[in-house]
Amino acid sequence: MAQIYERVALIGLGLIASSMCHAMRRAGLAGEIVGYARSAETRDIAREIGLCDRVCDTAAEAVKDANLVVLCVPVGAMEAVAKEIGPALKPGTTVSDVGSVKRTVVDAVGPYIPEGVHFIPAHPLAGTEHSGPRSGFAELFDNRYTIIVPVEGSDPQAVDRLTSLWTGIGALTETMDADHHDLVLAVTSHTPHLIAYTMVGVADDLRRVTDSEVIKYSAAGFRDFTRIAASDPVMWRDVFLNNKEATLEILGRFTEELFALQRAIRQGDGDHLHDYFTRTRSIRRGIIEAGQDTDAPDFGRVKARKK
Ligand code: NAP
Repeated sequence: MAQIYERVALIGLGLIASSMCHAMRRAGLAGEIVGYARSAETRDIAREIGLCDRVCDTAAEAVKDANLVVLCVPVGAMEAVAKEIGPALKPGTTVSDVGSVKRTVVDAVGPYIPEGVHFIPAHPLAGTEHSGPRSGFAELFDNRYTIIVPVEGSDPQAVDRLTSLWTGIGALTETMDADHHDLVLAVTSHTPHLIAYTMVGVADDLRRVTDSEVIKYSAAGFRDFTRIAASDPVMWRDVFLNNKEATLEILGRFTEELFALQRAIRQGDGDHLHDYFTRTRSIRRGIIEAGQDTDAPDFGRVKARKK
C-alpha cells in the first residue's frame, strides 16, 4: 500500500499508539513515525524496542513538521497535550486522536487547534486489557471499526486521507457525530465495562468466597468479567468522567431491566427469563455474522495448561 502521510507524530506511546505504529509499518503508510510519551521510562522502552523511527523528549518537538498528529493519551489528558502542541502545529497538518469519548475531546482540544490545521477526531473500536508501548500488535485493528468524527468545517479531503490511513491499518471505517458516538459507546462498551468492574468488585467483597475460590472455580462468565475489569484504571476513570450523561442514561435502563429480571426470578416466571435469553442470544449471532467475533466455543480460547 502507498504512503499516506510523510510524517506521523504519535503523542502517548501505549497500547493504541504502539499498535498503530506496527500496523502503519506493516502497510508502509507513513514515511516517518515520530513518538513522544510523558515519562522518560516509556520513551526509553520505545527507543529500546525501536517502536518509532524517532522518539522526542517533548510533544512540541515531536509534532514539528508532522503531516498527521494523533493524540493517544487518556481522554482527561487531551486538553493539556493540545495546549502544549498547539503553537508548534503548521498549517495543513491534521490533528486526530483515539480517545474513547468524543464530545469532551472535541470541546477540549478544538480551541487549541490553530487556523489552517485540520482537526478530525477518531476512535478505533479495538483494544485489550494490556497497556504500554510493549503491548501493541499490528493486527489489533484488523476488521474492527474505527469511527471518524469530523467536526464542523472539517475539510473533506483531510477526512478522506485520515480514513485511508485507518483502512490501510486494516480497520473498517464509519463516520458519526460526537454525541451519537458517545451514546453508542455507552451501550456497547462503557456500561458493560462498569458492570464488569462491579461484578468483580462484588466477588471481591464477598468474604465467604475466598480469593482462592474465586480464582480456582472461575467459570467463563466471571473470568470474562475479570479480563474486562483488568483494563487500565486511568483510561476508564476518564471514560466515565467524560461520558457522564450517556453512561448514566444507559445505566438507568440497565437497572430497570435488572429489576424486571429480579422480579421474574422471585416470581418463578420462567417464560419471561426464557424469552429474554432467547432475544439476547440472537444479538450474539448478529455480532458473529457481522464478522466482529468468532463463533468458536469459549471465544476460541485454547485451554490453559496445568503447570
Ligand atoms: P496506555 O497503554 O495506558 O497508554 C497511555 C499513554 O498516554 C502512555 O504513553 C502514557 O504515558 C500517556 N499518558 C497517560 N497520562 C498522561 C497524561 N496525564 N499526560 C500525558 N500523557 C499521558 O493507553 P491506551 O490503551 O493506548 O489508550 C490511549 C487512548 O486510547 C485513550 O484515550 C483511550 O481512551 C483510547 N482507547 C483505548 C482503547 C483500549 O482498549 N485500551 C481502545 C480504544 C481507544 P506514560 O507511559 O509516560 O505514562
